Amino acid sequence: MTEKGKVWLAGAGPGDAGLLTVKTRQLLCEADVIVYDALVSEEILCQIPDHVERIYVGKRSGHHPVPQEEINAILLQEAQKGKRVLRLKGGDPFVFGRGGEELELLTAHQIPYEIVPGVTSASAVPAYAGIPVTHRDYTSSFHVITGHPRKGGKLQIDFDALVRLNGTLIFLMGITAMESICSGLLEAGMEPDMPATVLERGTTAAQRSVVSDVKHLPKEAKKAGIGMPAIIVVGKVCRLGEQFHWAEKRVLGGRQFLITRPRQHSSSLARKLRDLGAQVLELPAIRTKPVEPNPELTAALEQFGTSAESWLVFTSPIGVATFFEQLEKQAWDIRKLFRKQTELRIAAIGSATGQALRSFGLIADLVPDVYDAAHLGRSIAQNAKLGSEVLIVRAKDGSEALLPPLENAGLSVQDVALYETVCELHEALHDEIVNAVCSGEVDAVTFTSASTVHGFVQSMKLTDYTNIRAVCIGEQTAKEAERYGMQVQISDQATIDSLVEKLLLLYGKEERA
Ligand code: SAH
Repeated sequence: MTEKGKVWLAGAGPGDAGLLTVKTRQLLCEADVIVYDALVSEEILCQIPDHVERIYVGKRSGHHPVPQEEINAILLQEAQKGKRVLRLKGGDPFVFGRGGEELELLTAHQIPYEIVPGVTSASAVPAYAGIPVTHRDYTSSFHVITGHPRKGGKLQIDFDALVRLNGTLIFLMGITAMESICSGLLEAGMEPDMPATVLERGTTAAQRSVVSDVKHLPKEAKKAGIGMPAIIVVGKVCRLGEQFHWAEKRVLGGRQFLITRPRQHSSSLARKLRDLGAQVLELPAIRTKPVEPNPELTAALEQFGTSAESWLVFTSPIGVATFFEQLEKQAWDIRKLFRKQTELRIAAIGSATGQALRSFGLIADLVPDVYDAAHLGRSIAQNAKLGSEVLIVRAKDGSEALLPPLENAGLSVQDVALYETVCELHEALHDEIVNAVCSGEVDAVTFTSASTVHGFVQSMKLTDYTNIRAVCIGEQTAKEAERYGMQVQISDQATIDSLVEKLLLLYGKEERA
């Protein structure tokens, strides 16, 4: 490629994926390569499509960070290959993000770039703890200070000036130097009972805080085992957090779930859980791949409908969508079905499949009481006229349980594959996800089909699944999760709403109205 690439220097916000800007979110999907730091949250990393290349340049545990010159060189190199490079940083790229330094080499080589500001932890982390960084009754300014000592280990902070300003003080990268920061403020004349707080992993499900005063904060923070990343806030506004804290009070506040639905479907479940305050890792365990071309489908449809009654059976919303896509590709007119000398009946496995059919102008004649393959089979067998034909259009290797009731009833059955499900392996994210799941940070993993369980296992490659709390839709899915020894709960009905209800029941806060 001779064409010059471009670099977007963008902020990912402090953690909560909802705090990504619209522009950065779009870039996550449109970049060729993403160069990212340790502070970019897993919730956000999960939203990067698998085809986008990722280069991690953060600190690895026990290792030194990638030197700045090397990061600059990577950006230049990738852009010179003609790529669209997203340089993604925690918070805002220009707030202690060394963003300026990364532009120097690009400018020298005339690489085009754009800056996409992000939501900085300096104001967002206090906000998620209910602390407004300014308030007319208490303070008229806020100051963001680095607590990272310069070479030689000495803090370069003018404490006298800070105390005189009388504003809210926000220290980033100040956990290691907390003692020196607090004693510096006290020595400069700050009242020892000035409210102070330390806020760890703000805006994520794991956010924690210690509220104290400037004299006692270091000891209290140590006692609570506060780790990084965290910010220190000093000022009267800290007290307001007691009254205004809200994030943990949400019904699913402080909870984190991993959802395994295929990407095209995960967003409705993710959205519902996020609306209730949960953090959601979207890790689509499977992807659907249409059978293309699909002459078997059109052949089956041509032959279909020679008996008095014929049943066309759908077992998933994606099946419905794929069915119509394939008809469209082969220019097969749906009216051909209705011209046949047969009573055409349509069955759907559950309400979501029924809903998908409605959007194509078809109302299912039959939806079983319980939304699974065995009940669907039994229900059709009970309702179909003797000698009816049944054409099932669904995933390759769909549930076996559908066929025996139909065959036992003497119906003539044809099972046509519309798509296959393939496992998504997420190699780039493997270690982070395994860590989140095994450390107990993930409260539960949701599964909406047996194939999502299978895909999850393929991608995790764990030796032991007994610590995993699985919340499943339907018996079939639950059986698959049990096979791996997971702790299994089943939603009352096989619907997304019922799955959300189950999660609320198991993990929701009691105050729920
Ligand atoms: N550019 C970033 C700051 C980078 S410096 C921004 O605008 O937010 C890194 C420091 O940011 C950390 O040491 C910590 O003090 C703070 N920080 C970043 N994300 C945080 C979070 N989710 N919770 C608490 N502190 C955070």
